[in-house]
Amino acid sequence: MTPLRLSLDSAALVANWRRLQAMAGVPAAAAVKADGYGLGARGVVDRLHAAGCRTFLVSTFDEAERLGAPGAGAVVLVLHGFTADDAAAAARLPWVRPVLNTPAQVAAWRTAFPGRPADLMVETGMNRLGLDPADVAPALAAIPVDTLHSHLATADQPDHPLAGIQLRRFAELAAATPGVRKSLANSAAIWRGRAFAFDAVRPGLGLYGGLPCPGADALPVVRPEARVLQVRTVEAGEAVGYGATFRPQTRARIATLNLGYADGLDRALGPHLAFTQGERLLPVVGRISMDLVAVDVSAAEVAEGDWLALRFDLAALAAASGLSQYELLVGLSPRFERRWS
Ligand SMILES: *Cc1c(COP(=O)(O)O)cnc(C)c1O
Repeated sequence: MTPLRLSLDSAALVANWRRLQAMAGVPAAAAVKADGYGLGARGVVDRLHAAGCRTFLVSTFDEAERLGAPGAGAVVLVLHGFTADDAAAAARLPWVRPVLNTPAQVAAWRTAFPGRPADLMVETGMNRLGLDPADVAPALAAIPVDTLHSHLATADQPDHPLAGIQLRRFAELAAATPGVRKSLANSAAIWRGRAFAFDAVRPGLGLYGGLPCPGADALPVVRPEARVLQVRTVEAGEAVGYGATFRPQTRARIATLNLGYADGLDRALGPHLAFTQGERLLPVVGRISMDLVAVDVSAAEVAEGDWLALRFDLAALAAASGLSQYELLVGLSPRFERRWS
């Protein structure tokens, strides 16, 4: 038994996926790269497949291999594309379609798997991965293409003009590319409306309870919990933790829990963190250690061996700490036991 666990809410995950798909009005894939944004890709895929999701996105062939078969009728897209080094993995994983980003990747795919479909990513203004628009037609002539993708740099910033520019460029390309599906939207772009939806959408963050843009909402999915190792009384003015950065002003009960920055509890989060017991908020105090954290439990009845839940409001923690919601999720360490309800 591990002393720390992630309580993961299956119903909330599925509800978030259904909601985003209904908003988009087209099939929603699920981004499960980085081990399902830290939740555990296998658990996410099993639940969303049961709910009807048939497309899952990972970054690399290595991730696709670790994930294994996604379930009947489903495909796994590999966002970073394909090189000859991936040929053995691609042969073992017939459910995978790489998303090809360069003319060299297109050529390598055509050589390794003539006639096997792939997807294409086209660059429309982010200058990250993707074919130049002029290279799309030659790629379409070279290989069978299922879906043409692009990706937005500023979908989460309502006032930024770039998303509109990227939408226009992608729509022009889409009009010139009949016969293949088109996909542009991540979670934030789904909230911008159906002009961004095309034939399929690719949410990630919003599935996991993140709020991808102002005005968005989602059901929380992830709740970290940790066990109390020890509770002690600390007299007013005495120091707690490394650096002696916290001294209670009156006598306090301080609990030490099995959780630290090695588990994703970044030290910058310290002042913004609290555990909960029922409705009670129990603040984190002092400096977060690698594997331990101190909590002021003076206001509650807490004993050795109790479990406390961390208040894990992604949007609020991100706003307060400067970390992104994505970083908060993917930082959750493998030491948590992932428990799906
Ligand atoms: C990660 C990713 C997504 C999902 O983005 P969210 O912001 O998490 O919804 C969609 N498309 C691509 C290409 C991605 O890399």
